[in-house]
Amino acid sequence: MKALIIVDMQNDFMPGGALGVADADQLVSVINSIIPKFNLVIASQDWHPKDHVSFASNHPGKKPGDRIKVDHHDQILWPIHCVRNTHGAELVTGLDKANITSSFYKGSDKNIDSYSVFFDNARRKSTGLGDYLRSRGVTDVYFVGVATEYCVLYSTLDGIDLGFSVYVIADACKPINLSVQDEERALEMMRAKGAKVITLMRY
Ligand SMILES: [Zn+2]
Repeated sequence: MKALIIVDMQNDFMPGGALGVADADQLVSVINSIIPKFNLVIASQDWHPKDHVSFASNHPGKKPGDRIKVDHHDQILWPIHCVRNTHGAELVTGLDKANITSSFYKGSDKNIDSYSVFFDNARRKSTGLGDYLRSRGVTDVYFVGVATEYCVLYSTLDGIDLGFSVYVIADACKPINLSVQDEERALEMMRAKGAKVITLMRY
């Protein structure tokens, strides 16, 4: 049984949004075209309180792109984005929401960020998605969405740790690329861990 996981296709991550990812809007029609191929379709949503630890504005003197330590973990600071129950946190306009079975929310604890759709960055809390997928007999998980080197990457690595066969549809994902090599480095980390990095042509 296969599941499609649509990662963080939210208004704030679209071009012009608070944390816009270049060309992420081009993924909407691409993702809509593959949704019908799956029986189970899950969306993840970054879902932060206003005082979230990942927002640079909550750290005096810091700016987006700076790095701090949070409980011994590296934390990159971002602009304010995906504040829960705001337009920016909603799934992007045009995405075929009628065929999305369920949404899973992450980053809702103000003290810890959560790139992965399965666990927070300290791996203290689970989102429940792993158990949800298993309870429905899912064995194969396919990832699409944003951003390749953050939420897609860490979701992929955790998915493998949880025992799923993990596929990443690389051209249905978009990177932030704070450094130009970030996307390629992330895809290599996924492959090294055992993910199958495929393209739309092969799906
Ligand atoms: Zn976030």
